[in-house]
Amino acid sequence: MPYTEDDLLPLSALQHLLFCERQCALIHIEQVWVENLFTAQGRILHERVDNTGHESRRDLRLEFGVPLRSLELGIIGKADMVEFHRQPDGGWLPFPVEYKRGKPKKGNWDRVQLCAQALCLEEMLTVDIFHGALFYGKIRRRLDVVFDRNLREETTSTASRLHNLVAGGITPPAVYGKKCDACSLLEICLPKVATGKKTVAAYLRSMQNP
Ligand code: SF4
Repeated sequence: MPYTEDDLLPLSALQHLLFCERQCALIHIEQVWVENLFTAQGRILHERVDNTGHESRRDLRLEFGVPLRSLELGIIGKADMVEFHRQPDGGWLPFPVEYKRGKPKKGNWDRVQLCAQALCLEEMLTVDIFHGALFYGKIRRRLDVVFDRNLREETTSTASRLHNLVAGGITPPAVYGKKCDACSLLEICLPKVATGKKTVAAYLRSMQNP
């Protein structure tokens, strides 16, 4: 395995990285976090589904708040819910389900996050997992996700980029875009004025000592 327990990074950082490298660095290198309306709604939704526990029916078991880890990807996290479907041979096939506050996004980060959960479960349980699902609160629909080769490769390369970014310890400069309007770090990042600053700390220092 390429990583050890000491190297593990949060699984949620994958979606931060795909949303914006700078946001990912601010959170996971500079340890900055600010809650806004979007993150608060997401947190409350996750708290509702995040309780650990389980339910069982004849051919279906539901496990909530399932701890996840992959030494192959170097990530650690938790699945909102994993369904276990009984197979004809009597075994149980995991099917991860992730709850999202909004609606499906143009970017691939929700699918990558779900695929990372599947890769963790594959490694932990020594099984092959082919599908999972994303449930979007805004449209109240559950969309199936296929863990095909492309998505697996994107997930693996995103995890590797995440480790490189954190190991490098350098926050990329801001690039203002439409996504910034929904970013919880907009007021700290200041993308319209902070472009080119290496870190938020450097920006704050420059404000104190103009
Ligand atoms: S405000 Fe924009 S550039 Fe800054 S972290 Fe957020 S998304 Fe990235």
